[in-house]
Amino acid sequence: MNEIEVKINELRKTLQYHSQRYYNDDAPEIEDYEYDMMMRELKALEEKYPEYDTPDSPTKRVGGKADNSFESVVHTVRMESLQDAFSKQEILDFDKRVREAVSSPHYVVEPKIDGLSVSLEYVNGIFSRGSTRGDGDVGEDVSGNLRVIHSIPLRLNRNIPYIEVRGEVYMPKKSFEKVVDRQLINGEKPFKNPRNAAAGSLRQKDSKVTATRGLDIFVFNVQQVEGVELTSHKESLDFLKELGFNTVPFYKRVDSIESAFDEVENIGEMRGDLEFDIDGAVIKVDDFGDRELLGSTAKFPKWAAAFKYPPEEKQTKLIDIEVAVGRTGVITPTAVLEPVHLAGTTVSRATLHNQDFIKEKNVNIGDIITVRKAGDIIPEVLCLNEKLSDGYFELPQICPSCGEAVVREEGEAAIRCINPECPAQLLRNLIHFCSRDAMDIEGLGPSIIETFVSEGMITKTTDIYRLDEAEIAKLEGFKETSAHNIVSSVEKSKDNDLGKLVFALGIRHIGAKAAKLLSDNLKDIDAIMNAGVDDILKIDGFGEIMAESVVDFFGKQGTVVLVNELKELGLNTKSKTEIKDNRFEGMTFVLTGTLPNYKRSEASKIIESFGGKTSSSVSKKTSYVLLGESSGSKLDKANSLGIPVIGESEFEEMIK
Ligand code: NAD
Repeated sequence: MNEIEVKINELRKTLQYHSQRYYNDDAPEIEDYEYDMMMRELKALEEKYPEYDTPDSPTKRVGGKADNSFESVVHTVRMESLQDAFSKQEILDFDKRVREAVSSPHYVVEPKIDGLSVSLEYVNGIFSRGSTRGDGDVGEDVSGNLRVIHSIPLRLNRNIPYIEVRGEVYMPKKSFEKVVDRQLINGEKPFKNPRNAAAGSLRQKDSKVTATRGLDIFVFNVQQVEGVELTSHKESLDFLKELGFNTVPFYKRVDSIESAFDEVENIGEMRGDLEFDIDGAVIKVDDFGDRELLGSTAKFPKWAAAFKYPPEEKQTKLIDIEVAVGRTGVITPTAVLEPVHLAGTTVSRATLHNQDFIKEKNVNIGDIITVRKAGDIIPEVLCLNEKLSDGYFELPQICPSCGEAVVREEGEAAIRCINPECPAQLLRNLIHFCSRDAMDIEGLGPSIIETFVSEGMITKTTDIYRLDEAEIAKLEGFKETSAHNIVSSVEKSKDNDLGKLVFALGIRHIGAKAAKLLSDNLKDIDAIMNAGVDDILKIDGFGEIMAESVVDFFGKQGTVVLVNELKELGLNTKSKTEIKDNRFEGMTFVLTGTLPNYKRSEASKIIESFGGKTSSSVSKKTSYVLLGESSGSKLDKANSLGIPVIGESEFEEMIK
């Protein structure tokens, strides 16, 4: 293979990887701009060396493959992509190509919404189906999830026999902030940007989840229509409005490419102030007759071009570095900048990610640096321009919120505060503490906890056990019964098994199962507190990272104070699990499907009481798969690995 071929193959492989991360996983690792530039490089190479061009190259493909978890929808009108342009010259070239086929084109300019494309179909004015673009030919049926978007009319203002429209589902910036906030509280990986958040939310299995994500839509095209004659784009946008759609905003018809480009610039200026993300502006030939003359390539129509705003970069002075602790305990550095105007907004702060990032960029307070704002909302420090300080900034070794020493685990970029009583992490810790697998305090869900915290009724974990019925009943939205129920379930939780309490404490790397193992083996909170790494390593299933995490956690002053207070408040701190006999010792069961007579949690308890373990996935180490009704892939896996599969009656025999 020669150098060119190697380069082409390398680019294809990289692009395929990132395309999968972006379209299918909704978790891009690189900026769109970087991706687009690589795509251009590949296109240029394929044009120059057509002998290496192949029909399956990423340059020929639209979007991602349809996922097979939703039903497929074959698009009768192909959902095309757009050719892109990154400079005025490229827009002028586009106009030149257009004018080779059309004498005096009119254009419509509109913002390019950064979301994901969907098709909406209506039969006799009633919403009948909605689907994603997929690869342009085949998408996924996401009707149920689209129905929860309020601005999608379920009935049109006019009863037309059939219409298919195309629009962009997006997540408004405000919704995005809320969703990310919630994800951080729940310890989930947050979405990287509104576009991925929108895509991830629209492909949820449960429409109720989609409904909580605050999605919206802008409709920008009539794909096909029966019983109505439309002759231009402008006319069809006006028509869509009339039907009751939220059309793409501030679209404008102009009569020259110069005016079109002015409009592109106007939209670019507005960019930072909009409630939604745009990644460019689209220039479209207005007249449908003209469009017909121009036609399409395999990937995009020749009558439209998307001008993509390049990421803007500016130099400025780094005047301070603020260190804060997030709700998950991660210590994050933020650069405070001499304000600069960037991509439509004034930027005075930028993320510095973590200590490794600061070290790699070699930046410190006083330096001149470059900031960049690309697809993401938060600008980032790109590089150092002028070194006016010594060395790089080092993050403090104590938590800026509670003053406890921070920890950094091996192989991790993040430095974190693990103090369970750190005020910055209070809300998240409380939500976890009360959750089902933890203390299981019914009635104390996230929003009620938020209310109690904002009312000052809970300022630390143990305040949960000091909640006063009368005081709760005085709050808006609460009644005496609801207040009584909350306090009763708080009281009831005092009696939980120690395993639940250990899990509730929120020790890193210690899930509900590991917490139970700690409790079952060491029996008592004091024994767990005093255990060394070696003692914990003796427990089957524990490795170095987990053992060290436990020791670190109980070594914190905040933890000791918390545990002592919980004891004083009367919480059970002893293991209640009795091992009946050890007939299942060394065995691992995997439970799948619904058992006729046992809840899964009950069956797990029984297995544990006989010294066995349960696991959620089948592997070579599995001893038995306990099979209930409507079980799925686990059975196939067990069969392929030759693992014995038992039903409820056999299980009952074993536990007699
Ligand atoms: P595109 O986003 O460049 O353009 C086509 C899309 O624009 C259409 O599907 C349509 O949904 C949308 N659109 C929004 N507003 C519109 C309007 N007013 N009129 C017409 N269309 C409008 O093309 P694409 O094929 O969807 O994807 C390419 C994009 O995805 C690039 O921006 C690329 O950077 C990004 N990408 C990024 C990564 C990554 O790793 N960062 C990976 C793959 C793709």
